[in-house]
Amino acid sequence: AKTAGRNAVRFFDPRMQAAVTARAAMENDLRKALAEDQFRLYYQVQVGQGGQAIGAEVLIRWQHPERGLVMPGEFIPLAEETGQILAIGLWVLRTACLQLRHWEDDPARAHLQLAVNVSARQFRQGDFVDQVFAVLNETGARADRLKLELTESMALDNVQQTITKMNALRALGVGFSMDDFGTGQSSLSYLTRLPLDQLKIDQSFVRNIGIQETDALIVQTIIGMAQSLGIDVIAEGVETTAQREFLAQHGCSLWQGYLFSRPVPLENFEQLMAQRYAA
Ligand code: C2E
Ligand code: CA
Ligand code: CA
Ligand code: CA
Repeated sequence: AKTAGRNAVRFFDPRMQAAVTARAAMENDLRKALAEDQFRLYYQVQVGQGGQAIGAEVLIRWQHPERGLVMPGEFIPLAEETGQILAIGLWVLRTACLQLRHWEDDPARAHLQLAVNVSARQFRQGDFVDQVFAVLNETGARADRLKLELTESMALDNVQQTITKMNALRALGVGFSMDDFGTGQSSLSYLTRLPLDQLKIDQSFVRNIGIQETDALIVQTIIGMAQSLGIDVIAEGVETTAQREFLAQHGCSLWQGYLFSRPVPLENFEQLMAQRYAA
């Protein structure tokens, strides 16, 4: 049996073997991460027209005991595959709502909103609405300070069910933003049926403002679409004042990106949010 095992291994690319092992190790570590309190929320400021902080998007990081800070791109896809995203997503939501509740008592911060990313698998759960409702009740957070970021693919999974869930949560005051807008394959007529509060222009278009004419046109089109739907539009990945100015000139005056701040731990966010980001 030993020999057969040896021979079998020869058919594998050693690099592929290493990747399989690394994945198994990560899956195992991920299982302990919640219980051992290894997840952290980082806050990336969202800035309004007057240059004031209106809130933040919360972005998860994994403080791994040996590997250090692990970015979501490295573990969220795996967590989605294994289903661990359900527990992780609930932790993110609860932590964000607890923070909203804390700010509520602080006049300088009570206006802040938090945007939370929701994975497809999380949103698809039959009791997702009940989960959000329970978290709002448990934490005492104001629903109208919470914004959920959805992606096109998940919203189009089952449009009628998506609309029903969104409406139930909107009745409580929860807002919805369509993340990475413009990158999906979805038809516009579907998207306009969704009860959205905001479109979020994907950073891939923002990055090419001033570089690629077609992307600048897409940005203008998305802004125009939001305006005709009567909803907000925010741009992510804003890195330069030229991008900010282009966006403002074309009617998008909500921004997020490294120009203002990278995602940072809570303490840093609370310090920097008091400042104004002058044009
Ligand atoms: P996303 O939701 O599109 O988040 C925006 C990403 O762009 C973040 O990466 C952010 O750090 C980065 N970013 C922000 N401003 C700039 C900029 O000016 N320039 C550039 N180049 N990048 C910028 P991050 O934090 O690595 O997150 C990656 C993705 O992981 C997120 O993309 C989101 O899809 C997912 N993710 C993060 N946190 C969560 C979470 O709590 N739950 C779920 N389900 N997914 C999450
Ligand atoms: Ca997002
Ligand atoms: Ca995004
Ligand atoms: Ca993105």
